Amino acid sequence: MQNIQQNIARVRDSIRRACQACGRNPEEVQLLLATKTVPAASIRIAIEAGERLIGENKVQELRDKDAALQGLPVERHFIGHLQSNKIKDVLKYATCIQSIDRLSIAEQLHKRLEAENRTIDIYVQVNTSEESSKFGIPPEEALPFILALQHFNTLRLKGLMTIGLLDADPEYRRPSLRKLRLVRNQLLREGIAGPLGLSMGMSGDMEMAIEEGATLVRIGTAVFGNRVPGKEVWNESGAQH
Ligand SMILES: *Cc1c(COP(=O)(O)O)cnc(C)c1O
Repeated sequence: MQNIQQNIARVRDSIRRACQACGRNPEEVQLLLATKTVPAASIRIAIEAGERLIGENKVQELRDKDAALQGLPVERHFIGHLQSNKIKDVLKYATCIQSIDRLSIAEQLHKRLEAENRTIDIYVQVNTSEESSKFGIPPEEALPFILALQHFNTLRLKGLMTIGLLDADPEYRRPSLRKLRLVRNQLLREGIAGPLGLSMGMSGDMEMAIEEGATLVRIGTAVFGNRVPGKEVWNESGAQH
């Protein structure tokens, strides 16, 4: 349990050092704790250690842990694959959806948000590694996709998200992380309003992601330890990566 605090300190230190190494200000990089399968009691320890941002992959987990986190100063992002039958619930708990990759989902979110007279932050998920099993829109479709999203003025575009290539050799991941930055730069050149953040980098490739421009890293294992094998379902649909 006390390990969680030490792990957080270690991760924060790595972020600082990675930023220094490439001349970036550590304040440009937000830390999101990826808490899939992590019990509320452990999340509470992280919050007590000063963390303020968590991300869940399943709406079910957002809902299940909600009561135990009531009143705590924590913001929740949704980082998994969003199914349309979960839209109503995800809007109850999350302040940001990082995994927008279909216009149909965007439209349904917009309709509900309009009815509720409010907005939500989003990231567009880009598939930068060209693995067919992965969610996210292809890089070359990012511009038309984001132009189409502009019809939905309840969705506030904060940036792009990618999961990167989950290869044993982290150097193979660099091109997919870099790709997200290049896509972002292109969008800005085409006149999409910035700033646009880059949500990328996990326990295995955090430093590299920071070098490539990450503004938000999503860290699970390095803080909470290994997840129970077999229970590691990344997405609502049950899809594994
Ligand atoms: C689990 C998860 C992470 C964190 O992965 P770790 O390797 O445990 O740090 C980041 N992003 C997403 C979308 C995840 O599902």
